Amino acid sequence: QLKSEILQDFLIAGELALSGQTRPVRGALSMTMLAAEKGIKGVILPLESAEEACLVESSKVYAVESLAEAIRFLSGQMELVPLDASRSPYLMEPQGDEAVDFSEVKGQANLRRAVEVAVAGGHNLLMMGPPGSGKSMVSKRIPTILPAPSKTEYLEILGVHSVAGRTCSGDNRSFCRPFRSPHHTISDVGLLGGGVIPGPGEISLAHNGVLFLDELPEFKRSALEVLRQPLEDGQVTISRSAGKITLPSRFMLVAAMNPCPCGYLGDPSRECRCSTPQIQKYRARVSGPLLDRIDIHIEAPAVRIEELQERSLGESSETVRQRVEPCRRIQV
Ligand SMILES: [Zn+2]
Repeated sequence: QLKSEILQDFLIAGELALSGQTRPVRGALSMTMLAAEKGIKGVILPLESAEEACLVESSKVYAVESLAEAIRFLSGQMELVPLDASRSPYLMEPQGDEAVDFSEVKGQANLRRAVEVAVAGGHNLLMMGPPGSGKSMVSKRIPTILPAPSKTEYLEILGVHSVAGRTCSGDNRSFCRPFRSPHHTISDVGLLGGGVIPGPGEISLAHNGVLFLDELPEFKRSALEVLRQPLEDGQVTISRSAGKITLPSRFMLVAAMNPCPCGYLGDPSRECRCSTPQIQKYRARVSGPLLDRIDIHIEAPAVRIEELQERSLGESSETVRQRVEPCRRIQV
């Protein structure tokens, strides 16, 4: 039995397995921010959740592995040391598949230049080129030439991902900007957010990072239409019968498309078999108002064999980032 006064000093959250072991919860970071605002002394969470929550430095965050442990701690039978934010795994550099670099991109000098200008100026970007010209590869590396997120920006990113349940598994733990590339079959809810229990969509998961829409004309017209408002406002409001929630959605939009349905229009090595009306119809699928919000349109031609065989690496992400950072500072 615990005294109720003690419980008032703590915010406690977690899922329990039948064994009494704790399991991570969604939204631990946001809960901890709220607790800090309300002046609650400490937060008790399952380990995986505590590791993200401890980034809120004004809070004392304790990790417990079972309900019994929480009770022993609260009743004074056991001591726990609050987690050290500086040791949180969420401050780690990207590892494995996430550790990509601009130097891996071969050729495409014009495309690289356009990407750098877009990033430096905070512009959205549309790339048009045949399959295999490296549009996806370049896009995936855009977060690495953006300035590293500030602590505040990173907490915003992590907050959204935590609410979406993406941090519960212990994956997605690197200190970097998000790169999201939803498939063109995505629903409006998946893109914008919503659902029975309203949660963030791709545009919020891309907050402070990059939203990449490959094969832009294949996306449903309605999905492209709903993108317009958040692109302008940097946030999205989702209305449900239970109420309204507003989520952040400030992202760089990077879109890619083939020049024609078959993809090879203007390609010297392959013949395009599309008719003019087919090409017109294909391009018309991307609506004017959305295109108006994409400032830079660039062609990404097929990469020549000689360029692919080039052994030397291109400029590293760090080199490009060092040029980009001062430009962005001037504009802010
Ligand atoms: Zn074609």
